[in-house]
Amino acid sequence: MRSTVGKTTVTLELGDITGHKADAIVNAANSSLLGGGGVDGAIHRRGGPDILAQCRDIAANQGPLPPGDAVSTNAGKLLARRVLHTVGPIWRGGDEDEPETLVRCYRSCLELARQEGLRTVAFPSISTGAYGYPIDQAAQIATGAVVGFLHEHPASFDRITWVLFEEKTFGVYASALSAISAGKRSSDS
Ligand code: ADP
Repeated sequence: MRSTVGKTTVTLELGDITGHKADAIVNAANSSLLGGGGVDGAIHRRGGPDILAQCRDIAANQGPLPPGDAVSTNAGKLLARRVLHTVGPIWRGGDEDEPETLVRCYRSCLELARQEGLRTVAFPSISTGAYGYPIDQAAQIATGAVVGFLHEHPASFDRITWVLFEEKTFGVYASALSAISAGKRSSDS
């Protein structure tokens, strides 16, 4: 699954984001920045203690990371150059700004990547694991937020990838991305 927005290729992959080679991979962290399960646990296990040490420093300096914000660290032993840590919204039924917060997660990460000159970025499916966000809605929001940002910044990125862990999630993101690409008349293949 691949589409193009401006100069950026947007792709989906099935797999483990910790093995992905990109300028930056995104961690679906929690506000404490002290590690957790899911993607967070996998990144710290495979990336080694350097990443957690930097997260601890950031948390000590600025307190808990609010949902929707993002910070960056190095990537320890991972293939990526940087890890962008963002905190997704916990799903509480949809009336507590969950959609807006999820949009901000994607935009904060892309803004940070742009500032750091990181041209290839890989996302997991933020909030759809332990945080319980319904996948259909999360996929529409995620793809809409990223495609919208790329239209605003058409030359800032070479490649944006979602690395998705389950086939079901992959299928839902593929449908969401196709729908958006068709709607915006981006080139699809
Ligand atoms: P959140 O707390 O934001 O919901 P999770 O890490 O619990 O984050 O889950 C987010 C999504 O990432 C889920 O779809 C989960 O299956 C998936 N996931 C878990 N481990 C990995 C991994 N190593 N690589 C890519 N995706 C993963």
